[in-house]
Amino acid sequence: MKPIIFILPLLFAFVLMYCSIRNNEVDLRAFIEIHVKTIEPKLKMMNLAYWNAAASGEKKYYDEQAALELEIRTIYSDKKEFEQLKRWKESGSIKDTLLERQLILLYNNYLTNQNDTTLTRKIVERAAAVQNKFNVFRPVLDGKEIDDNEIESILKKEKNSAERKKVWEASKEVGRAVASDVIDLVKLRNEAARQLGFKNYYEMSLIASEQSVGEITAIFDELKKLTDEPYKKLKNEIDMKLSKKYGIKPENMMPWHYEDRFFQEAPKIGTVDIDRYFKGKKIEDLAVAFYKGIGLPVDNILKNSDIYGRKGKYQHAFSTDIDRLGDVRTMQSVVDNQYWMSTMLHELGHGVYSLNIRHDLPFILRSETHIFATEAVAMLMERQVDNADWLDMMVGISQKDKKTISIEGRENLRMHALIFSRWTQVMMRFEKSMYEDPDQDLNKLWWNLVKEYQMVTPPEGRNAPDWAAKIHLSQSPAYYHNYELGELTASQLQAYITKNILKQNDAHEACFANKPEVGEYLAAKVFAPGAGLRWDALIKEATGEPLSAKYFAEEYVK
Ligand SMILES: [Zn+2]
Repeated sequence: MKPIIFILPLLFAFVLMYCSIRNNEVDLRAFIEIHVKTIEPKLKMMNLAYWNAAASGEKKYYDEQAALELEIRTIYSDKKEFEQLKRWKESGSIKDTLLERQLILLYNNYLTNQNDTTLTRKIVERAAAVQNKFNVFRPVLDGKEIDDNEIESILKKEKNSAERKKVWEASKEVGRAVASDVIDLVKLRNEAARQLGFKNYYEMSLIASEQSVGEITAIFDELKKLTDEPYKKLKNEIDMKLSKKYGIKPENMMPWHYEDRFFQEAPKIGTVDIDRYFKGKKIEDLAVAFYKGIGLPVDNILKNSDIYGRKGKYQHAFSTDIDRLGDVRTMQSVVDNQYWMSTMLHELGHGVYSLNIRHDLPFILRSETHIFATEAVAMLMERQVDNADWLDMMVGISQKDKKTISIEGRENLRMHALIFSRWTQVMMRFEKSMYEDPDQDLNKLWWNLVKEYQMVTPPEGRNAPDWAAKIHLSQSPAYYHNYELGELTASQLQAYITKNILKQNDAHEACFANKPEVGEYLAAKVFAPGAGLRWDALIKEATGEPLSAKYFAEEYVK
């Protein structure tokens, strides 16, 4: 008898604990079921409104999108529900892993919306207004309106420095049009973050997306060190080559002398005109053939997509998952050249990720593990466009060009990686600093960072909000660092695929065309788990090790 008397209270305590775990799990499941019933149709309608807004530029769709976003934010602003989620989270009683993942994602969503509705409304409306200004703004050059594609095309070809300067300045005009709105938006977002006990919006956003400022800064500091010397060398080489083209001295290179208006992309300094292989070709058909060949068909994505540019339409490219059930689309302004081929592969990389997330996962987990993971896949696919074998298989290139491209393609990717990594340094540090102190001299901060990290000479006496011309600062706040994390992850995936899936040695030579095993691996290990696995766990599971800059450095920093 004695032992039983001794064990009984223990057993009782255990049963109590077990019951509370069971009860909490049952209650949470019930909560989620009701929540999803409300949120799922609203999210779908909002995604559709965003789609229609971008396709038409019509104000009514922007208003509709903003209204729906507000409705959704209002749902997530419920204080009672937030407190309940907090209790479940802190109780440690949710043991089922998929249920716990849902709880964490829900909690983070509620957390970032615990502001008073007036403030939330102001933020949503202001962001939509800025977006609208961006979409319809066309700078005037020599009395004629020009669009982004025309600006890019002039900066690619024009040899006259004065003409280049004029176009570059025109490309920054949108900055003046939106700067004060963007600063207001930053202050409103900060006010929201402070209401919730955070120092600023940047800090809050990172925590709510399962990252931290310290973690990100450490990675960027490491990257800076890794790239300092090779970048300096590369930048000198680029200045030498480009200045010769313009007939100026290398030390007189100015921001408008680079082929990209932010110098975020490498100027293509190859000798082969790859664009000519895409002339007259249907970019979307090439993409269909490529993705079919790796076992990740995209016909259904393209069927719902909006491929060509027109007046009033959104000028950038994006991919969207409308309903998490297979309605995945991409919006682009395709032209028959290599740039749009790579953009097409990029956007469809996002697309196949969304499309291949397990459909039997709970709704809340039916999205990518982290936003930068889907960027990584998009970048991995985009890199194929510089691969000589890929080009040969997809568009047929001459043997002579193939030889040259295999050397130049490697160099182009290396330049892209280095240049883009220094540009993301500017963006990440600017954004972090802007949210820490939006009242500082932002124009000066911008050019100081551009000078330090991109090593580009600021135009003398220029005091304009050139930073505000970058749409991401207003529309995708606290996001840009994810592009660089995407690059690092893409390199890690590429190294893994090369070695373990294709059984090759050189990651750069790895051509995915007609290799269904590549798609099979990505679908099973990267896409299928959705948000059921946290990003760090997923990368470890998919590649056998945690995310590091190692493979990026191995590939590009030599
Ligand atoms: Zn992307």
